[in-house]
Amino acid sequence: MADMFVGGERVAFAGGDRLEVLDPATGAVVDTVPAGGAAEVDQAVRAAAGAFPAWWDVPAARRGELVAQAARHVWAHADELAPLLTREQGKPLREARMELHRFVETLDHYAGLARTLRGGYVPDLDEGAHGLIVRRPLGVVGAIVPWNFPTTLLGNKLGPALVTGNTVVAKPAETTPLTTLRVAELLHEAGIPAGVFNAVTGRGPEAGAALVEHPLVRKIGFTGSTPVGKQTMAGAAKGMKRVTLELGGSDPMIICDDADLDGAIKAASTGRFFNCGQACLAVKRLFVFDAVADEVADRLTARAARLKVGPGDAQGTQLGPLHSARGRELVEAQVADAVEGGAKVLHGGDRPEGLDQGFYLTPTLLLEPAEDSRVATEEVFGPALPIWRVRDLDEAIERANASPYGLGSSIWTRDLHRANRAIERVEAGYMWVNSHNKVYDELPFGGVKQSGYGKEHGAEALDYYTETKSVVVRG
Ligand code: NAD
Repeated sequence: MADMFVGGERVAFAGGDRLEVLDPATGAVVDTVPAGGAAEVDQAVRAAAGAFPAWWDVPAARRGELVAQAARHVWAHADELAPLLTREQGKPLREARMELHRFVETLDHYAGLARTLRGGYVPDLDEGAHGLIVRRPLGVVGAIVPWNFPTTLLGNKLGPALVTGNTVVAKPAETTPLTTLRVAELLHEAGIPAGVFNAVTGRGPEAGAALVEHPLVRKIGFTGSTPVGKQTMAGAAKGMKRVTLELGGSDPMIICDDADLDGAIKAASTGRFFNCGQACLAVKRLFVFDAVADEVADRLTARAARLKVGPGDAQGTQLGPLHSARGRELVEAQVADAVEGGAKVLHGGDRPEGLDQGFYLTPTLLLEPAEDSRVATEEVFGPALPIWRVRDLDEAIERANASPYGLGSSIWTRDLHRANRAIERVEAGYMWVNSHNKVYDELPFGGVKQSGYGKEHGAEALDYYTETKSVVVRG
């Protein structure tokens, strides 16, 4: 039975109410964790608040060294952590290792930036006076994380928060707390002082909401769905807290008639089916120029048919189960709606034979769903890709923008004019030209429209975890 991690140790809470963690490949219970609430969150926030002054006193370069050291220690345990992540999340082992590697890379990146923290100096402000812009950490930061990439998305908050001198209370998703709890233990073993990083388990509306509204929490770094992001923003507003909100998406990919089709088709397939389609930056809507639409559809169908579906820990699995029964039902309902509205099923649309226990779905390709169908207007968080033919770039951009979301996007073309037009006109916080999906720590990342508010990654993330104080100094 896993417990919470508070003040440098595993803490068992007396409450009694526990959450079951299921293996998505079998539906069996893997472990249970405490269903913490306001009292447990309060204990963790107080531990973080207690650790804050001493952590802030640690020189920034030393904080960076400790974070880098902790990252190494986590990676040294990848053989233990990857199967744990696969068991609670469902993803293939190879993807679990990739996810852990991203976590380590991100911590390393911010460890390197620890020495770059800067404020400002304004000379000759007035007679005998100069100005300083002092940069300070915020204090206790709450990190609320979803289940699709539990460690990567934790790292995006932890890296910039810790190197800038904040302390953190994380609230992992109800269904993926185990890797986070183990990582918390490893970070502490590697030298991150007690109380600097804490992890509280519990339900979103209880533990999550209590973290958002706790008076000692100064900022919430939230990744999750758009509706809960809005609630988080409203809850944080009561205390005038800062928020970074990384929310849902419905990323368009545009394939022009002059595109490198080998690259585009491979990227569309990987981009849609990686993590069983449960990625914020998955390719969720495909717009293909008429002249190449048949070829793209045929070759994507052939690729989907070759994908090996199975348990995440089985040799050669490329597509694991969906994370939950509820998630699968939602995707099935969206596919059924598309089919009722006239979409042609090119591949999949059903549950694979012989895998009855877990939450599996065959990779699904839908041709020409109606423009008002659910797959066109909602986020599809699973392995189903709608494909539409378009006349030209203007139509592709107009339809790409006909979404409440604006997270990622891509265009495949050899024509610089087309690429530039898409870069300017597609409404998205991130765009790839002739690639899709890889996110770099160097570039700020975050959505526009209802996909979010604020940025993670990039040196900009340091600004989101610090505040400035302007000082007038008279000699
Ligand atoms: P979710 O919003 O249901 O849950 C996310 C987290 O919020 C969980 O830890 C949950 O317990 C917590 N939570 C739930 N209710 C809460 C409340 N009232 N107050 C505070 N916290 C609460 O999202 P999910 O289903 O776990 O994740 C999938 C969604 O996340 C998708 O929409 C996906 O696109 C999005 N996502 C976005 C990014 C990004 O970077 N933009 C990355 C990954 C996932």
